[in-house]
Amino acid sequence: MTQINKKMPVLVTGATGYVAGRLVNRLLEAGLTVHAPVRDPNNLDKTRFLRQLAEELPGQIRFFEADLLDGGSYDEAMKGCELVFHTASPFSLQFKDAQKDLIDPALLGTRNVLGSVERTPTVKRVVLTSSCAAVLGDTVDLLSLPNGTATEEHWNSTSSLTHQPYSFSKTLAEKEAWHLNRAQNRWDLVVINPTLVLGPGINPRGTSESFHIFRQLGDGTMKSGVPDLDIGLVDVRDVAQAHYLAGFTPKAQGRHIVSAKSLTVLQMAQVLRSHYGDAYPFPQKQLPKWLVWLVGPLVGMPRKMVRRNVGYPWKVDHTKSKTELGLTYREPEEFLVEFFQQMIDHGTFQK
Ligand code: NAP
Repeated sequence: MTQINKKMPVLVTGATGYVAGRLVNRLLEAGLTVHAPVRDPNNLDKTRFLRQLAEELPGQIRFFEADLLDGGSYDEAMKGCELVFHTASPFSLQFKDAQKDLIDPALLGTRNVLGSVERTPTVKRVVLTSSCAAVLGDTVDLLSLPNGTATEEHWNSTSSLTHQPYSFSKTLAEKEAWHLNRAQNRWDLVVINPTLVLGPGINPRGTSESFHIFRQLGDGTMKSGVPDLDIGLVDVRDVAQAHYLAGFTPKAQGRHIVSAKSLTVLQMAQVLRSHYGDAYPFPQKQLPKWLVWLVGPLVGMPRKMVRRNVGYPWKVDHTKSKTELGLTYREPEEFLVEFFQQMIDHGTFQK
């Protein structure tokens, strides 16, 4: 049982990010003081949405300078904090060097942040933003699980530096966090494992891969068809609330799969089409797997990824997030439209 004093500051790594933006929003709403170590506190493009929220909401924000790859750089910001949210980690499928661009910041960054936790005696709890990618590598892996369903018991054992390296980075980072947590008994670790996060962000032009993936449904990239891919989806505000509850629920423990529902890419497009009609070039059909396999590498989808993910149903069990954290979920039919409307309002689809 860990009781966090809400009068003490809380630290959020990666506050400029999509998921963390909504988390900071939630913390400021609750009147907390947020310590935000970011790569460049003077970059107003990245920090202005957070500064604006702090003006409107009861809480306060203080920026610090830190980098996941700069050892000890989180020490200053962590002083006096009882609760640390570690969300910073690159989420991008457009990388050049998987080791340098994904694995190092995820793994060495987790070691770095938890090193600061070790040196900061006030810290009682760390909430880590992991991913469902640390639970499950490829959708085909579900076939070997009981009821074809992934739970918090399961770990991704099929990703590697060369196959699904983002998922590999999240698996390595979460395992390292558990390893460091078990080596001591001052601070406890609570982990959030979201599926694909969508829904309006505090910054309408976020750079998270979530924006890149979702934008392609409406910009014509997928108009000739989509692969039969089933994906778990969750609203970014519900992911923020899951973090908040993980931080302040005294008995919270372990991992939490956070996912509202799964939809295929075509079903996502159908939700948008039923709202916007033909105003945007939404995909209207699924491509046969053999064709996706053939052309996949040309559009950044390696054949092994096609083979192991296309055409399989996706199923995870999110019961623990509801029963132990008390989380409730928005419906994709609602947040997909809200996210798309945010993109329209901010000129994403202008020619
Ligand atoms: P995002 O918007 O790209 O946020 C990533 C954050 O990490 C940014 O604040 C970025 O800072 C920071 N960061 C990256 N490299 C850094 C470094 N070397 N030093 C310091 N900060 C660094 O992506 P997101 O979608 O919000 O992802 C946030 C977390 O959620 C990640 O841990 C991700 O794995 C996890 N997650 C995301 C999803 C999803 O669908 N979006 C699903 C499951 C889990 P800058 O602003 O300076 O670049």
